[in-house]
Amino acid sequence: MRILAFEVRDDEKPYFEKYAKQYQCEITCVHNTLNFDNLSMVRGYDGISILSKSYMTADLEEGLKELGVTCCATRTIGFNHIDVAHAHEIGLKIANSNYPPTGVAEYTVMLILMSLRHYKQAMWRGQVNDYSLSGLQGRELNELTVGIIGTGKIGQCVIKNLSNFGCKILAYDMNENDTVKKYAQYTDLDIIINCCDIISLHTPLLESTYHLINEEKIAHMKDGVVLINCARGELMDIDALIQGIESQKIGALALDVIEGEDGIYHEDKRSEIISNQKIAYLRQFPNVIMTQHMAFYTNTAVENMVKCSIEAIHDFIKKGTCATSL
Ligand code: NAD
Repeated sequence: MRILAFEVRDDEKPYFEKYAKQYQCEITCVHNTLNFDNLSMVRGYDGISILSKSYMTADLEEGLKELGVTCCATRTIGFNHIDVAHAHEIGLKIANSNYPPTGVAEYTVMLILMSLRHYKQAMWRGQVNDYSLSGLQGRELNELTVGIIGTGKIGQCVIKNLSNFGCKILAYDMNENDTVKKYAQYTDLDIIINCCDIISLHTPLLESTYHLINEEKIAHMKDGVVLINCARGELMDIDALIQGIESQKIGALALDVIEGEDGIYHEDKRSEIISNQKIAYLRQFPNVIMTQHMAFYTNTAVENMVKCSIEAIHDFIKKGTCATSL
């Protein structure tokens, strides 16, 4: 069995070697994203492993099929970069990853606490020996109401983590979950929007969740609301976020992901001109924390991302299906 892995970072390579042995397959790792220019590379491989910068459009999927690839596993949980419906139509098997949700959930709690305690500003001041307190008075999580939108694996884990802080937790998801009900109260989306001090998003990016947080929703939120996004940037309208920060309706914003991050995040851009004005403008506010799509990035997650993609391709080829098949 031959697998071609795209977008492989150096820190993933030892895991590719480990799981190539375990699943007895031959794996070639390349740093490139998969695109039309290098599509011919896949000839002779049974399956491919990708990350989120290889856009699996209908045309690319057809090209893969024609060149003999039967399956594709993304090492990510999110799969909004893949035209899954078209892949099904042409019989190209697709899987995503199911690495543990704990890392992203812990990161979410960290962003909530950093936002409530003005940690970005405190860190800035420390760099220049400014040890003043003025403007840094925070709020206590135990006195606040947190709204979690999307209670799948990550949302659920965030809720469990938060349950130890003593805050009130409201949740919204069209698929309610019994475990969540032990720690949180399910309610309507409108109630989450209107009544929560902190709102954290944990839904996939779908047509129905695109710009889930927009100008109209922000207008209905509590003054000083704290918004957290460790899911996908496009869930929040960046223009509405800027407006909300400028008007001070939004009290703090913590974004691990942002609309327009492609081509910027995960690259060293120190010597380059970044032409995305909105990202540059938003990140300079004292109450906006932005990180480079790294909530997933732990040793546990990286190993499991690699393992899961190899296991999926192995099982697709040997058994015809796999546990993470989409
Ligand atoms: P999941 O599939 O287990 O859960 C998603 C939940 O969202 C489901 O319960 C689903 O019913 C719910 N949902 C879908 N549409 C909704 C809507 N309109 N309103 C409310 N709920 C809705 O996924 P997960 O493992 O919890 O991951 C969630 C997302 O987090 C992923 O899709 C991915 O985009 C993102 N993610 C980001 C990082 C990162 O590093 N920042 C890492 C992993 C995952």
